Amino acid sequence: MNHLIVGAGFSGATCARMLADAGHRCVVIDRRAHLAGNAYDHLDDHGVLVHAYGPHIFHTNSDRIVQWLSRFTEWRPYEHRVRARVRGGTWPIPINRTTINGLYGLSLDEAGVAEFLARVRIPCEHPQTSEDAVLSAVGPELCDLFFRGYTRKQWGLDLSELNASVAARIPTRTNDDDRYFTDRFQAMPAEGYTRMFERMLDHPLIVLRTNCEFDDARQHIDHERLIYTGPVDAYFQHVHGVLPYRSLRFEHLHLAGTEVFQEVGTVNDPNENEWTRITEFKHLTGQAHRGTSIVREYPCAEGDPYYPILTEANQALYQRYQALVDQEQVRGVYFVGRLAQYKYYNMDQAVGAAMALSHQILSI
Ligand code: FAD
Ligand code: UDP
Repeated sequence: MNHLIVGAGFSGATCARMLADAGHRCVVIDRRAHLAGNAYDHLDDHGVLVHAYGPHIFHTNSDRIVQWLSRFTEWRPYEHRVRARVRGGTWPIPINRTTINGLYGLSLDEAGVAEFLARVRIPCEHPQTSEDAVLSAVGPELCDLFFRGYTRKQWGLDLSELNASVAARIPTRTNDDDRYFTDRFQAMPAEGYTRMFERMLDHPLIVLRTNCEFDDARQHIDHERLIYTGPVDAYFQHVHGVLPYRSLRFEHLHLAGTEVFQEVGTVNDPNENEWTRITEFKHLTGQAHRGTSIVREYPCAEGDPYYPILTEANQALYQRYQALVDQEQVRGVYFVGRLAQYKYYNMDQAVGAAMALSHQILSI
């Protein structure tokens, strides 16, 4: 059967390869000039491997997903570390024992940190908002220092307006573990994401067309089934209104005379400047180079859609689109991915959702 797949990111590429492996023809289109979606990486003008759309670190607890992606790449083990610039210093985020002791000039052991947090936190049994989640983890002062300003910049909203799941992505620790993620598997594709995607889509039954807009292509490309990974509201011509997505502007810089710019992969800036964070790519990729390349992220309302904005109103609006999605399925149209499902998916979750959809389609 012929499939048209809109989007060559993790969701679209996973579906294409699984369907092609099962003997189906797939045309994958993307409006961008390249594959790999937001995970696209390339050598910049100075020969440093950079991520065009901000830092992408692969992490998962799913052996099945690692096994599947490992068909297309080898891996370089990498554990991401992030520090936040607060009160003139930089401290580990997620907040841990080092953060508390450093910031307050204390020398607490793990039990002492647990007692400290128990004193300052405002317990909340069922946090509804990100404010509930953060206050119940670390209390008002640490909330204001590390979370409120960052969230205001990142989303243009107060913590109290966002679903609890957003800030709950960041845990709190009483020990010295300063890794951003604790998943069993944390690594970077050894030759980069783009190379991994090239191998994923390298199949006799897959055709890739970049610079190809869905609205222009849908009439010309023969297909019995459609898999759509773009913004769900755009597919339905915004009939229920615009579903908000948060965008970012990326400022890429190369520092020719600097071998190491910062001590860890990412430094967050919750309270000053307009950017939220700076990432230095060589930490992520392990590349040796005499200069270094960094990216600053400036959140904005307009521009390419990068993040679903998980407020109550937006989730209610998405539910209205979900009803249309269910009707389209009868006509062989399927929606999967971060933009199409309006879910704050990490890369492994996008792969997992696409694998599940592919199995569903293959079992019809
Ligand atoms: P996308 O990668 O967005 O792919 C969708 C594709 O569809 C796009 O290429 C788009 O051009 C194309 N498209 C849309 N509409 C049309 C149309 N009408 N016609 C043609 N093409 C169309 N995840 C992690 O696990 N770890 C991280 O460290 C991490 N960091 C991130 C940092 C940033 C700044 C961002 C924005 C995301 C990050 N993510 C991270 C999340 C990760 O990017 C997503 O989980 C993943 O890219 C989702 O894949 P997708 O295929 O669903 O969507
Ligand atoms: N967050 C914060 N301060 C930080 C890091 C994260 O307030 O130093 C909050 C903020 O609301 C952010 C959310 O936690 O949007 C999720 O952070 P994550 O690093 O997972 O965001 P992503 O990498 O997806 O942009």
